[in-house]
Amino acid sequence: MSIDNRLWSTKAKNLSPYVPGEQPKHDNLVKLNTNENPYPPSPKAVMAMQAVLSNEACALRLYPEPESDELRQTLADYHGLGLDEVFVGNGSDEVLALVFACFFMKQRPLLMPDISYSFYPVYADTFGVTTQSIPLKDDFSIDIKEYHQSCDGIILANPNAPTGRLLPIEDIKKLIAMHPDAVVVIDEAYIDYADDVKQASAVRLIRQFDNLVITQTFSKSRALAGLRVGMAFANPNLIAALMAMKNSFNSYPLDRLAQAGAKASVEDVAYFEDKRTQVIKLRKALTQDLQTLGFTVLPSAANFVFATLPNHQAADLSQALRQEGVIVRHFNQPRIKDYLRISVGTQAQNQRLIDVLTQILAKMD
Ligand SMILES: *Cc1c(COP(=O)(O)O)cnc(C)c1O
Repeated sequence: MSIDNRLWSTKAKNLSPYVPGEQPKHDNLVKLNTNENPYPPSPKAVMAMQAVLSNEACALRLYPEPESDELRQTLADYHGLGLDEVFVGNGSDEVLALVFACFFMKQRPLLMPDISYSFYPVYADTFGVTTQSIPLKDDFSIDIKEYHQSCDGIILANPNAPTGRLLPIEDIKKLIAMHPDAVVVIDEAYIDYADDVKQASAVRLIRQFDNLVITQTFSKSRALAGLRVGMAFANPNLIAALMAMKNSFNSYPLDRLAQAGAKASVEDVAYFEDKRTQVIKLRKALTQDLQTLGFTVLPSAANFVFATLPNHQAADLSQALRQEGVIVRHFNQPRIKDYLRISVGTQAQNQRLIDVLTQILAKMD
């Protein structure tokens, strides 16, 4: 059925929305397509949310704390920052939308890699931001020399999505120093899967550079994609802009369950470290198993791998896997149409993927 849009604003008519990865209704599938955590969230996070619900007066009757102060303080303590250097929102997608509205709606273009998170061009379109896409090198790494041009902003995911490649912190420093009058945004949705997070993350640089914004999320490494919590770390002057924008749009982006669950998740350091380490181990094993099958796998610092099999169409492989109940992500897009992005699952899920792939390849050859 075609939609009658005659009552739509010109703005609404001209939107080109983001298309998220599939969330199948039935759950007998091995779901390796949207980089969710294969493990459940911290039991302490679940208990904290249950406590909100079982509170006698039912706390949900009341509005939540508008600035999520307790959660922000917990995040500040975790990273050794001040409260005024932390912002939270309804998923990092919302935080990123506010970032675009605050820092990129200017005159000069926003620079971003040609292959990156596909929501960035959508936000640029929504907010009327001119972009310039900068090609990754042939090995899909970022060449910071290519960013030496006039701009009002730069956005990159580190590790990059969907490649999984990590840009070294020295390069990030050079990039920020190169552009003192532009805002540089590093989307660290997957940073907790870098072998050495403390070393790889740019969070500690926000005191050194007043033009740096880091975004992170609870959706991947904290297994809370369904709760919708994301955050940004930056100099207080930039955080103040995000606060002003948020309060001009939705003053209560995080409900009471989200604030309580996210806070307890950050406090449960032991659980987080254990699960993060297990996923890293599983990623390494999955990489090896794919290589044994003949795949070329990019070096990944994320909870997914980006892999290609010479002399095979990735679209065909993705289809054949789907028929066997295993879903992975394929982007029908120049430069990466021969690749599959495969989320790291549990040991059993990864084994199922490898078994099915082995069967498929035996039939094809
Ligand atoms: C998953 C993801 C996000 C969005 O995270 P939410 O907090 O779930 O909105 C942002 N950036 C990248 C690169 C991602 O992969």
